[in-house]
Amino acid sequence: MEYRKLGRTDLEVSLIGLGTMTWGEQNTEAQAHEQIDYALTQGVNFLDVAEMYPVPPKPETQGRTEEYIGTWLAKTGRRKEVVIATKAAGPVRQAHQPNHIRGGQTNHNRASLFAAVEGSLKRLQTDYIDLYQLHWPDRSTNTFGRLAYPWVDGEETVAIDETLSALAELVKSGKVRHVGVSNETPWGVAQFLAAAEKHNLPRIVSIQNPYSLVNRTFEIGLSEFSHREHVGLLAYSPLAFGTLSGKYLNGQRPADGRVTLYQRFTRYTKPEVETAIAGYVEIARKYGLSPAQMALAFVNSRPFVTSNLIGATTMAQLKENIESVNVTLGAEILAEIEAVHVKQ
Ligand code: NDP
Repeated sequence: MEYRKLGRTDLEVSLIGLGTMTWGEQNTEAQAHEQIDYALTQGVNFLDVAEMYPVPPKPETQGRTEEYIGTWLAKTGRRKEVVIATKAAGPVRQAHQPNHIRGGQTNHNRASLFAAVEGSLKRLQTDYIDLYQLHWPDRSTNTFGRLAYPWVDGEETVAIDETLSALAELVKSGKVRHVGVSNETPWGVAQFLAAAEKHNLPRIVSIQNPYSLVNRTFEIGLSEFSHREHVGLLAYSPLAFGTLSGKYLNGQRPADGRVTLYQRFTRYTKPEVETAIAGYVEIARKYGLSPAQMALAFVNSRPFVTSNLIGATTMAQLKENIESVNVTLGAEILAEIEAVHVKQ
């Protein structure tokens, strides 16, 4: 396993980070514990969770994923061997998103963040969180080329200075070691860095955004910025919900696959994305690689990635995904990948 520094901290996290959002929905507690045990034998030391998990979020299951990590910690006592990242759920603007269940309602003000951290610590059965992330911005943003939160102008949101001041208190108290953002924009990252410098507040150490062969938006505006500023990318959905394995091509719908099970996961099944995936699968087959491992190896190879947050619902997937660290993509295959990307 390779390890990369988390921002400018003294923490080193494994290049493969274990995503957990299926635990409590597609995976049982026993399966979750088996995944952590196995991942640790392979050198993985980084777990990513969120107070709102599992996904899709439902009021009756919210928090279960953190609980499963908590019971694993209580059972094994291996707290010092894992770097735990969790996230504040993020604000829910019910008035403007009446049918949108996100789970949790953590605005980025002091009271909400303090309550959220207490809740996470309790469920995780620990007294500190290594990396506390803001799941998505508490403001209207134009994220990834689309208006992600179409709230009316003038709606009250929490200023970044105020959020960072609250996080500073949590860091000072020892409950949180480092802070990061997620689903952020270049403007947002710049604001967080400027506020930290101006007011001597904690500097964000990471940004958790989507990044995969079929979603390379991060390269526009964020990759250089984050690399030079040591705000490393924690790449999520590196297999584009499993579609990059090729298992959904030609109308196939495996019964236990996320895209089949949950109607909301349509982002990576649009015809133009499927065409690109077919191209990537063909390249992988030509080079004798598994399409999933090629897709993950691509993410692993990017210098701005600190950790590649994989997800798995079976042990076979988990093994395959972790083994992607042993796959090196040479110049020739990277050129073929680039040619599909350009067409995409
Ligand atoms: P992926 O896009 O890699 O999708 C993982 C899913 O793909 C698995 O659950 C499995 O689903 C399928 N899969 C995995 N490996 C294989 C394989 N080898 N062959 C075939 N199918 C496979 O990642 P996720 O979207 O799950 O994200 C990973 C983590 O990133 C999450 O757990 C979470 O920690 C984080 N995340 C953060 C977000 C944020 O907003 N900050 C948003 C999304 C994720 P199935 O078996 O059902 O097909």
